[in-house]
Amino acid sequence: MKQRLIEELTELLGNDRVLTNEPMSRHTTFRIGGPADLFLLPNTVEEIKKIREICIQEQESYFILGNGSNLLVSDSGFRGVIIQTYRNLAQIQVEEDCIRAQAGALLSGIAQAAKAASLTGFEFAAGIPGTLGGAVVMNAGAYGGEMKDVLKEATVLDSEGQIRRIPAGKLAMGYRTSVIKEAGYMVLEAVISLKKGDPDQIRETMKDLTQRRISKQPLEYPSAGSTFKRPEGYFAGKLIMDSGLRGYTHGGAQVSEKHCGFVINTGGATARDVCELMEHVQKTVYEKYNVKLEPEVKFLGDF
Ligand SMILES: Cc1cc2nc3c(=O)[nH]c(=O)nc-3n(C[C@H](O)[C@H](O)[C@H](O)COP(=O)(O)OP(=O)(O)OC[C@H]3O[C@@H](n4cnc5c(N)ncnc54)[C@H](O)[C@@H]3O)c2cc1C
Repeated sequence: MKQRLIEELTELLGNDRVLTNEPMSRHTTFRIGGPADLFLLPNTVEEIKKIREICIQEQESYFILGNGSNLLVSDSGFRGVIIQTYRNLAQIQVEEDCIRAQAGALLSGIAQAAKAASLTGFEFAAGIPGTLGGAVVMNAGAYGGEMKDVLKEATVLDSEGQIRRIPAGKLAMGYRTSVIKEAGYMVLEAVISLKKGDPDQIRETMKDLTQRRISKQPLEYPSAGSTFKRPEGYFAGKLIMDSGLRGYTHGGAQVSEKHCGFVINTGGATARDVCELMEHVQKTVYEKYNVKLEPEVKFLGDF
């Protein structure tokens, strides 16, 4: 990595917010991933903008990271700059029936703010362990709700380095996709539009959905949630189970016995273990059912 790049970024953020050779296993819910050359913790939108400019000028790769809950980072890590939004860019503000939050705010935090303000419509997202930025890009969803149902607008840093406010209707949000994802924009902030609701009902719904997650999902193990997208007309977990792969293990990676749609890290799994296991699952399901399973998990680094 270029010394000049490190110096410029250190001058911008200070020593404490520029980490070198940072193990990505510390920043992914899979607890997997080798070192990133540089790991940055910006505090402001202006800093993100400047980091992007410096990386482009120095021809260095960069990657925006939320909570790492949908990510498999390779064992050799990432040659470039990671820009983390989680923690430092996480302000949440209630504005009448809307919630404005920065990209790094956790969905659980936004759901708590909604509950405290008696706003309904965000209960579905309370148990998704991602940031608002990651959820907008992926159009995260659960239990019949999706980000596209509640998103009013997103403020992004576009591919020309301009900050733009885009109304949700122009984001073409579909199943685990959006214009933001396709165009490689960075989400800086978003506004969620909710409705006044009954606080007891909101609390009950959130409690019920949490209970459903605890009973159905292997939350006791590191994972990245559903490993594969839902193929049209099927459920990935059921196809995997019916293919006889429940509990199938490869190195430290395993098809969860509790929920076959999840690949879990049983301890010490490498990215390679997960990747090879995923390939085996895809091949087996294809041979048996002629259905192609597409990864929902994002890959970062060399595979
Ligand atoms: C136990 C468990 C349960 C889960 N349940 C669900 C569920 O019910 N529904 C669901 O949809 N998902 C679920 N997930 C997956 C995951 O939580 C979501 O996809 C979430 O939206 C990812 O957010 P993140 O901040 O962790 O993103 P990351 O994993 O950090 O990043 C994912 C992608 O988003 C991009 N990204 C992140 N932040 C930004 C930003 N600010 N601007 C631009 N791009 C950005 C990254 O570059 C990357 O490509 C689950 C995961 C786990 C571990």
